[in-house]
Amino acid sequence: MRRSSVPRPLPRVLALLLPLTLVVGTAGCTVGDPLAKPDLGKAEVTTTAAPGEKDPYAEFGAVQRVLDERARALLGGDRKRFLATVDRDNSKLRRRQAAMFDNLQVLPLTNVYYGVERTALLADPVRGGGHALRPVVVEHVQLRGVHQRPVSNDVTMTFVQRRGGWVLGNEREDPLFAAQFRPWYGTRIETAGDAALLVMTDEDAEVGADELLGQTRSALASVTGVLDQEPAAPLLVDATSNGAATEVSNASGEDAAAVSFTTFGSSRLGGDYTGVAGAVVKANPDYVSQLVEDDETLRHELTHYVLSGYGNSNPQWVTEGIAEYVGYRPGTLADSYIEDAGLERRIDEREVRLIPPGRWGDDPELDYLSAEAFAEFLISGYGLDDYLEMMDLFRRMGRSRSVVYGEGIVDDVLRRVYDLEADQVARGGFELLRGL
Ligand SMILES: [Zn+2]
Repeated sequence: MRRSSVPRPLPRVLALLLPLTLVVGTAGCTVGDPLAKPDLGKAEVTTTAAPGEKDPYAEFGAVQRVLDERARALLGGDRKRFLATVDRDNSKLRRRQAAMFDNLQVLPLTNVYYGVERTALLADPVRGGGHALRPVVVEHVQLRGVHQRPVSNDVTMTFVQRRGGWVLGNEREDPLFAAQFRPWYGTRIETAGDAALLVMTDEDAEVGADELLGQTRSALASVTGVLDQEPAAPLLVDATSNGAATEVSNASGEDAAAVSFTTFGSSRLGGDYTGVAGAVVKANPDYVSQLVEDDETLRHELTHYVLSGYGNSNPQWVTEGIAEYVGYRPGTLADSYIEDAGLERRIDEREVRLIPPGRWGDDPELDYLSAEAFAEFLISGYGLDDYLEMMDLFRRMGRSRSVVYGEGIVDDVLRRVYDLEADQVARGGFELLRGL
């Protein structure tokens, strides 16, 4: 098989999502290490109790009861009861809340609850005014099968006193402290799949959930076939336009087609990390039709998902290299060619070495391409088993020495698994690149 051209039509993801703070600032679409503690941190927290209140905490208790009622309505499928917790004078807010209710009803919702911290933030405007309170609220939502535990999101809700009680008066997405995963909030969605693989798209999307599910299943079958490994956990594919992940951009400002990440749960009030909630491939809704026509990117991301157990102790060239390698199968670099003279020149000028962690993302296109070349050199010469053994050694050594991205242990690992110097792997990869 020949590649028609390099670069590819679909730019890859080069930025990470907010919860993976350990790896923020380093390019590369990777699956988060479960040890990477999410930053569910608080924004602009002020501790101003409502003036004139006898018990400054009573209002927080009242808001907690409203949210408890909301959770019961969601779990019981009672739309009227749910909307009774929303300001009845704000029709726009009610429409949005109704969409969220309906979305959670088409999802396999198994648990939902809210934590309310007794800390007030600056309240957002409420239609018609009134005494308002914006506590720190953490929403916990668990979907049956695909989540091991509820996924926790900071939500920006302002409550307002109406007719002696409290109701939701405003909810907005905070661009600075975006929810880690909340595809049910926003536009209406449709779903397809089962507890092992659940797919969501916008309701009126050009590529619907059923079609995307079919494509993802066949891409996943091809990936597990090449890797001879089955995924350890269920997967959610989110191609909705909801949530912060749609605007992931790479260094050159292009939109990303898809990104893989792990979601996390937190304690009720968001202070403590409790563990992994689930695996997600977030597809940019603008690229879904391209994704289903040409599933290289899908296979790339699904490779990250299947190999997510190796964590983030592996150098980016190792994890991205195998994702590229599997994504292009059965094509190889050995039988590909380049049409882009500029890229050819950059390959010639490129320093022959494995990409160190701090330099990953400097030239995204060439970084991914050379990572693929290093992977192809190792896999075609020594087999896939050795490559996975290398990934496992990076994982184990990385953990015991508390390093990420193989910092400082590359030489050691390559010698132990392959009896090769880093330099030899670099030269092997560059031979493939220069043959393009
Ligand atoms: Zn990747």
